[in-house]
Amino acid sequence: KLFEDCGFSPVLMSAIKKQGYEKPTTIQCQALPIILSGRDIIGIAKTGSGKTAAFVLPMIVHIMDQPELEKEDGPIGVICAPTRELAHQIYLEAKKFSKHDGIRVAAVYGGMSKLDQLKELKAGSEIVVATPGRLIDMLKMKALTMTRATYLVLDEADRMFDLGFEPQIRSIVGQIRPDRQTLLFSATMPYKVERLAREILGDPIRVTV
Ligand code: AMP
Repeated sequence: KLFEDCGFSPVLMSAIKKQGYEKPTTIQCQALPIILSGRDIIGIAKTGSGKTAAFVLPMIVHIMDQPELEKEDGPIGVICAPTRELAHQIYLEAKKFSKHDGIRVAAVYGGMSKLDQLKELKAGSEIVVATPGRLIDMLKMKALTMTRATYLVLDEADRMFDLGFEPQIRSIVGQIRPDRQTLLFSATMPYKVERLAREILGDPIRVTV
């Protein structure tokens, strides 16, 4: 399996090559065709597997496929991660693959002033990478709207539950239109995560690496 088989644009292909990614990792081989087809997915994979690119690359395709949406400016892709460190890693990966297409990525997690984040969000963004608590704060402050969001990623769902973010995750999911594409990644699938997956994913395909 090759990245060339994924139907990525020349711009995206060159960004992939620039990263030195020669061929997809196992999770990318399995997950990319499913996600690119628009299906929901449960990806059981750990950090180091290349799962970030597995959900970021189809997100770029999804965003580039949108017709012009002039009046709305909230994110199209929303990624939730348990910690600011992980969120920051995802933010950097998303930036690398999206900047050449003019896609704007906003970071919504601790370690940065809320005022700066408010300004960044007001300027507009197609992708938001967030920790659940800070995203809820920003939604309460009406710093962003989820009306345009159609691609949701919950990364390291088991760790988000361990950190007590289940209510925040449910609140965020409840603010995103139900006809969205939803991707859930987790290293393990305890009962609570399984139950959430059953509630918020539509007929998901399960991939384990
Ligand atoms: P992740 O599991 O997403 O945190 O990725 C782990 C590491 O693998 C990161 O440093 C990525 O940049 C790198 N990586 C992801 N996909 C590929 C690939 N197809 N080829 C080489 N390196 C990759």
